[in-house]
Amino acid sequence: MMTAEQYLTSLRRINYRAFMFGERVENIVDHPMIRPSINAVAQSYELAGAPSCKGLLTARSGLSGKTVNRFTHLHQGADDLISKVKMQRLLGQKTAACFQRCVGMDAFNAVDSVTYEMERDLNIGYHRRFRSFLLHVQDNDLVVEGAMTDPKGDRSLRPSNQADPDLYLRVVRREKEGILVRGAKAHQTGALSAHEILVMPTMAMGEEDADYAVCFAVPSGTDGITYIYGRQSCDTRRLEGTEIDVGNCHYGGHECLVIFDDLFIPWERVFMCGEYSYTGDLVERFAGYHRQSYGGCKVGVGDVLIGAAALAAEYNGTAGASHIRDKLIEMVHLNETLYACGIACSSQGEATASGTYLIDMLLANVCKQNVTRFPYEIARLAEDIAGGLMVTLPSEKDYRHPEIGKYIEKYLKGTAAAPTEQRMRVMRLIENIALGTAAVGYRTESMHGAGSPQAQRIMIGRQADLDHKKNLARVIAGIES
Ligand code: SF4
Ligand code: FE
Repeated sequence: MMTAEQYLTSLRRINYRAFMFGERVENIVDHPMIRPSINAVAQSYELAGAPSCKGLLTARSGLSGKTVNRFTHLHQGADDLISKVKMQRLLGQKTAACFQRCVGMDAFNAVDSVTYEMERDLNIGYHRRFRSFLLHVQDNDLVVEGAMTDPKGDRSLRPSNQADPDLYLRVVRREKEGILVRGAKAHQTGALSAHEILVMPTMAMGEEDADYAVCFAVPSGTDGITYIYGRQSCDTRRLEGTEIDVGNCHYGGHECLVIFDDLFIPWERVFMCGEYSYTGDLVERFAGYHRQSYGGCKVGVGDVLIGAAALAAEYNGTAGASHIRDKLIEMVHLNETLYACGIACSSQGEATASGTYLIDMLLANVCKQNVTRFPYEIARLAEDIAGGLMVTLPSEKDYRHPEIGKYIEKYLKGTAAAPTEQRMRVMRLIENIALGTAAVGYRTESMHGAGSPQAQRIMIGRQADLDHKKNLARVIAGIES
């Protein structure tokens, strides 16, 4: 396995064609706006080597028998699914940001079981190819960007009916040696901290959309791939060279619009090409795994936010007030409810035909549906406890200013025991998670990541088995069926 330092070195070798603010970014690793997200991913390497975390961050590969980073692992049992959620909570606690590596892990597990079923039914070597790709990922301890979400254009139209056929990623030509693909993937988490991209279809496709039923892997720096960096609220504070104002001193996450411009993919890296009837399972399983993931990562970030709110109360001198204590209890209750769902859908997981374990789909969807709501309430309570200072605080440069700094020190002090600087730091951290760069992961991604709320409601409706519940009621009420 790689160390965090080796990971940084490995990224420096990748020639990403990346743009930000209308300019090409030549040095990704040292860019002050991108580096915090690379630091967050680096934690997945750092902790894998830390004796106290090894059990969570590593696993024994079902493919090679070697010890691998859990982020590259195929789940071999419900225990693995539970360890995954615990690992994500831990990383959320350590980074208070999106650490990006889970999307690839969730993609591996979904692609593994679906390609197994495709190879079994169709006798095309998709599963063999996929597993040899995954062995390469495990042996080299790589980060893989899982790429699912297409731009989608007019949502009322199917892919092949769009005015522009490229609004969903598609196969434009099949050749003897491979395929040519064109299109884009939007909201790509960790695009510039990954070594490889694993592309999947964005939704269940019909026969008329068979060209859009495509799954493949490609190295990140390949010619023909362009990355356009997505802006985040308060992102340019990272360019100011100060620390207090960014709230989270070291970590962050990022998303990109990734364009695939007539990219050639050799057959050995193609895991689906036209088999539209398997797209529904692939999308559902990937989404299910990522909905489980949020029962870990968002909970870890929630732990940091709850801690920050409790510190703010201490610094403000309100920690003893009963309504503040009750608000903190409410935050914990909501956060642990999310965790309970993440653990529950994991413990009820079952083996697929490939042997790789799948979560309980109903519970995973319930988990994510709660995630679309509870972080908003937790953030609301944190803002309530913090007070308005979290958004009206002067800058660090004013605080450090030789003439006016003393006024900030004097007038923005809370309790006598708490230094003003500590109060400023915790206010900015709450701002960062509730409204700043980390709010991408903690709030809006909680809403739309791994599918918007309605996507879970459709799945919950499909799995609810209302007939079974009606029968239960008939028996209890003495109604003849
Ligand atoms: Fe992992 Fe959470 Fe980020 Fe998804 S949102 S990649 S689960 S940290
Ligand atoms: Fe996500």
